[in-house]
Amino acid sequence: MEKIIPSLWEGFSLVVGEMGEMGSAHGLAFPEKGEIWLREDVYEGYLAGQGRDRFTAAHELGHLLLHNNIGMARSIKSPTELKPYENSEWQANTFAGALLIPVETARRLGNEVDLVDACGVSFDAARVRLAQLRRNRKI
Ligand SMILES: [Zn+2]
Repeated sequence: MEKIIPSLWEGFSLVVGEMGEMGSAHGLAFPEKGEIWLREDVYEGYLAGQGRDRFTAAHELGHLLLHNNIGMARSIKSPTELKPYENSEWQANTFAGALLIPVETARRLGNEVDLVDACGVSFDAARVRLAQLRRNRKI
């Protein structure tokens, strides 16, 4: 994320936020500024290859790429009125799952434990991605 994206996206920056300023937010995306913020402990975990923290970084990248127009992304409908695919959190999670767990890898390995090792994701992320791909008959 820090090496390749800046060469593709001038103005992109990854900001490491302190616990005190980010509070309970693990990550934040500011599409209008091209910024992703990761809380310092999440950033450390991301660098260390922790699945959950890698997912957070990918999730924020999803917001950055998908939700440039915040007015569009954050519908005036309340979250309970939204279809799952209209929800920006669902979209960012789905983006992160697809980025970290390619269909071909999921098809080849076909189980959570192997995907955790191969893709550097959490067991939950692997479980959700496999269920989603099976539901959509992609694997
Ligand atoms: Zn989000």
